[in-house]
Amino acid sequence: MVNERSVFGWRGSGRGLGLPPHMAMRLQILGSGSAGNCALLQTEGARVLIDAGFSWRKLNELLRAAGTRMEEIDAVFLTHEHGDHAAGVDGFKKHPRAEIYANASTARAVQAKAGREATWRIFETGTTFRFRDLEVTSFSVPHDAQEPVGFRFAHGHADDLFAPRRSLAWLTDLGHAPGHVHRHLRESDVVVVESNHCPKLLEADHRRPWSTKQRISGRHGHLSNSAACELLEATAHAGWRRVFLTHLSRDCNSLAAVEQSFAPLRARLGTACAFEVVAPGGGTAAWEW
Ligand SMILES: [Zn+2]
Ligand SMILES: [Zn+2]
Repeated sequence: MVNERSVFGWRGSGRGLGLPPHMAMRLQILGSGSAGNCALLQTEGARVLIDAGFSWRKLNELLRAAGTRMEEIDAVFLTHEHGDHAAGVDGFKKHPRAEIYANASTARAVQAKAGREATWRIFETGTTFRFRDLEVTSFSVPHDAQEPVGFRFAHGHADDLFAPRRSLAWLTDLGHAPGHVHRHLRESDVVVVESNHCPKLLEADHRRPWSTKQRISGRHGHLSNSAACELLEATAHAGWRRVFLTHLSRDCNSLAAVEQSFAPLRARLGTACAFEVVAPGGGTAAWEW
């Protein structure tokens, strides 16, 4: 499943990203929302994408704007097969060096729509494996896809002065949050969580048929602002450094509605934890910790 050579071969490879000491991970959300999702995660030894939900051309543009190139991407970690997360995978046949990590059901669903075979690396949902200097854990989430997952990425060790433990929970596209999802948020210091819709704006939306609204708000749809907020309230801890609220619906949510929902939690967490709301279609600057 995992290429052992690449797992252990990164040290001394000389391609260091020049991350300042004690900053082990760098995250930049390149795009977020129903039009496409993709983030760039970098450590000293790995440069990976979380999802690739844009056209190949757009992905290349986003990466260039982030100061890197597609040829430098080592791997892509896919949450599920929906187009807004996996549309760009087909383009990776041009860069077979980049390994595409997914569970078997997701890989099958993506490959069925793709042309030439990508370089798949199949993991079992619920397992932890290493990719170079990253420890990657996948966990199941309830969403209307084949076998959707969230991820926790960790780097370093608690007692290592030069590479202290850093971790990121990645959680989009889920209708509700079962107990095991809570655990991953509690064990991370940066969390990315979807805050998809405001129920009132969804209800008032005239462009979506009733059945679509039911799907979005259902147990296998997307988290509303209040559901995301309840999840974060239940899992918040003093170690959180930053919360990114993502995958906002352009039509059925607003920055103001999100701000309002999360205001009490922000006040409770204080200045130790920053909140960043990612506008639909937008991204973030690179952030290191
Ligand atoms: Zn989805
Ligand atoms: Zn999505």
